Amino acid sequence: MPVSPADGEDLARAVGAIYEDAEDALLQRLARALHEGIDLPGWAEDKLRTLSSLRHAVEQITAALQRDATGAITEAIRSSYRRGDRSAVADLMLPEGQRAAALRDLPNAAMADRLAAAAVAEQDPVYLRILRAITDTYRHVVARVSGGTLLGVTTRQQAAQRALDQFAARGITGFVDRAGRSWDMASYAEMAVRSATGRAAVQGHVDRLQDMGHELVIVSDAPLECQLCRPWEGEVLSLGGGFGAHTLHLTDARHDGVTRTVHVAGSLSEARAAGLFHPNCRHSVSAYLPGVSTRPQAPPHPGGATYEDTQQQRYLERQVRAWKRRQAAAFDDDARRRAGARIRDYQGRIRQLTAEKQLPRKSQREQIGRAR
Ligand SMILES: [Zn+2]
Repeated sequence: MPVSPADGEDLARAVGAIYEDAEDALLQRLARALHEGIDLPGWAEDKLRTLSSLRHAVEQITAALQRDATGAITEAIRSSYRRGDRSAVADLMLPEGQRAAALRDLPNAAMADRLAAAAVAEQDPVYLRILRAITDTYRHVVARVSGGTLLGVTTRQQAAQRALDQFAARGITGFVDRAGRSWDMASYAEMAVRSATGRAAVQGHVDRLQDMGHELVIVSDAPLECQLCRPWEGEVLSLGGGFGAHTLHLTDARHDGVTRTVHVAGSLSEARAAGLFHPNCRHSVSAYLPGVSTRPQAPPHPGGATYEDTQQQRYLERQVRAWKRRQAAAFDDDARRRAGARIRDYQGRIRQLTAEKQLPRKSQREQIGRAR
């Protein structure tokens, strides 16, 4: 059973949904704070006086988010590590008696906790940024609406909603990954957790194989686009340090006693450094048993989906997400209903695409009305 960074995607998605819910709750709170008393004279001055109560609410939502997310991330990493471990045991095709022994905890299972702690710490910038982003937007909207001219009540409402909509369309942004790309809060959290669950799954797999005295793995063929990994497809890699490409002569004492020549393309860490298992990688590795292993074939995609189809799906999902934020930031039922119609429209297009191409749906991402 090969192990792939993609194995943790479902867990990362569930974590991402926690951040999306929190972001919606923050936008609702922000909209409420701005809308309160908007028909009264002295609204702008009043808004600046009551900033502290918004700040307090934001801190409470953020603290709850941090608590929920920390628990969910820790569980996701541990369970990915376990999945990797179990898949290694399956790879080795052990006789019954040895299987039970192999299913005992790994001696270095503390590794999973270390990986989880690192993944949790990676989210720290998210919590720090939230308060700043919300209060900055609040001040910005108040300044824009009250700037210069005296506006009528209706106009003031419209101007505030317009300014808030611009913010909601983007979400809480400003998260930059190591590659310099900018992300919104929930996507950033999900991306970071996805990489971490992927690392944990592969680590659990590798730790188990090494614990059982196995030093070789083989890289799969991936069905959808994965340019960075192409040089490693079907190659055998060593689990030890960086040895470069080399040839081994291995005797299979357990099965046929035949000595085989195995070309090793390098170490797993070398391959990783060169791009294997980059974020969103669809490749996998499995234990390489000379004379037994064949190159693992990832099954071709049944619906004939292409890379472009998956990108189209991501695009539609981003639209759903953006309109969900607009809905959370709406001042009145009318605006909420309009946003709801757009959400349902994009959800319908996703349903159509995923049914046609047999792509997995990311339902957690699209759900509406999930209260926090
Ligand atoms: Zn790949």
